[in-house]
Amino acid sequence: TDDGAAVVAAVEAVAERIEDERSYLTELDSAIGDADHGGNMARGWAAAADAARDLDEPDAQTVCKTVGKTLMAEVGGASGPLFGGSLVFASAELDGGVTPESAVAFAETYLEKVEDRGDARVGDQTVVDALTPAVHTFKKSIETDDRPPLEALAKAVDAAERGVAFTVPIRAKKGRASYLGWRSVGHQDPGATSVLYILEELLAVAA
Ligand code: ADP
Ligand code: MG
Ligand code: MG
Repeated sequence: TDDGAAVVAAVEAVAERIEDERSYLTELDSAIGDADHGGNMARGWAAAADAARDLDEPDAQTVCKTVGKTLMAEVGGASGPLFGGSLVFASAELDGGVTPESAVAFAETYLEKVEDRGDARVGDQTVVDALTPAVHTFKKSIETDDRPPLEALAKAVDAAERGVAFTVPIRAKKGRASYLGWRSVGHQDPGATSVLYILEELLAVAA
């Protein structure tokens, strides 16, 4: 379907972007983690793009499920189940295709699953700090302000960008960075940064 083809294009754009940012993401993870986030994500998204391309005229739900499963298998670490497992779960919301309503449901379910799996909330210096404002802004923009999806997505990207900046002055409470205690303060979270790049590419492909 057209929705499916658009999602495949988005996954390819994300894979390319993550590859471009690979060394920067690894640099961020070397400051507060184990210096593998760039490699983890680049390997996972490259495999996900291959798997998505191999599907025969897939719908959006099938593409998302395939990408999620591939990320789970290839990324490893903390971020494999977070990014991938949550995607497999949330893909069910796209059963009837991609509409503004199903996109909101997908985004909310994805966030809930990430929070659930990682047991992280806003302020823990994780992916949740970028995802939460992005998802809430997207939902409010579509449902309350009645804005078109593209405008809502653009606002979500801005919100994610502020969320990434918010990770810098706070202390990590989940994941490897939490082992550093107060020494994690002053560092940008790698996972939240990846979330921003993914959303930026979704916007670029949708625009
Ligand atoms: P690992 O820490 O296992 O080496 P990565 O380096 O690929 O995995 O990913 C690290 C990122 O994962 C962190 O920057 C953070 O955003 C995210 N993360 C780690 N633990 C959690 C958690 N419990 N909840 C949410 N996000 C987490
Ligand atoms: Mg790491
Ligand atoms: Mg690791």
